[in-house]
Formats: sequence, C-alpha cells, structure tokens
Amino acid sequence: MAYFSNLIYNRGLVGSSGGNISYKLSDDKFLISPTNSCLGRLSYRDFIIIDENLNVLSKKGKPSKESSLHIAVYRKRQDVHCVIHTHSIFATIFSVKEMKIPMVTVSAKLKLVETPLVGYANPGSTELKEKVESKLYEVNDKVCSLLLCNHGVIAFGSNIEQAFNAAELVEDTAKIAYFSTFPFKSA
Ligand SMILES: [Zn+2]
Repeated sequence: MAYFSNLIYNRGLVGSSGGNISYKLSDDKFLISPTNSCLGRLSYRDFIIIDENLNVLSKKGKPSKESSLHIAVYRKRQDVHCVIHTHSIFATIFSVKEMKIPMVTVSAKLKLVETPLVGYANPGSTELKEKVESKLYEVNDKVCSLLLCNHGVIAFGSNIEQAFNAAELVEDTAKIAYFSTFPFKSA
C-alpha cells in the first residue's frame, strides 16, 4: 500500500495532499490513507483501518474524507479489493469540461472499456457518494474507473496493481486524447 501510494504521487497522479487509496482486508475491514496526507510520504504505519460504517478500528488517525466513496465502490463491486482516487491533470481537464475521456487507444478500449462521467458534487459529501453509487449501478461491471466532474478519477481493481494500472491508464489515455485533437497535417 505504501509503495503504491508513493508511486501514485511520484507518477504525478496526485499533488500535495490530494488523492487517497484503500484496500479491502475483509468484508468489513478496510485499510485507507489518512485525511490531509501526502501520498508521496506515507509509510505502512500511517494507514488506518475502518469498518464499512466508517468506524475507526485503528488506535489513532483520521481516515480520508472520501472514505464513504471508497466503501460505496466495495459495496457494489464484490470483485474490487483496491480503490484509488487521483487528481491526475489530463483526466481532470476532461472532468472540468464535463467531457468523457475518448478511448483513443486499443489498450484503453480493451482495459478501461469506458470511464463514465459522474456529475459534480462536493468532495467528501454524501451527494458525491450517492452519485458514484448510482453510476456504478448504471454501468457495466467491466468498468474499472470513473471521472468525477471538476475533481478527478476513481480507479479500482481486484488488487492494488490493477487499480494502479487503471488510474495510470486513465491519465495516459486522457493525455493522448488531449494532444491528438491538435489539427495535425498529413505528410
Ligand atoms: Zn479528491
């Protein structure tokens, strides 16, 4: 968890104290990053254990304010064991424009299928959790990422590596889609 959390930061998928990561330990026990923490500097000791009602089971620490959003993903998708929330730049540009990221590459089409857009709601709010929940009920269970309007990305997978790969692929796809919209001239 600490390794991937540092990697998310070092890869530029989040800045300062943005973003968060969680892991499902059992049906009612989840490991999550603390609120207002920099993912680039977390060590394994910093992670907090919560249950699905957001009660803190660790001796200390305050969990991410997006904890309810993570739990919403685990509730709907039993196959998911890791959820990552990023503010990666190019994906967030599409989210600010309220546009879906075009799946311009073959990898994106195969691995992401699509990155559905979730309408705006304040970070950490019940409204955001509910919007994410209802979007997950609308979309195919092959979907492994969502784009939150004016905010960022949620990526998830059956293990940490898969969730990280999805978060990274969403950003790479957004970047390629952004630059490939330039009016290139053919040779
Ligand atoms: Zn956020």
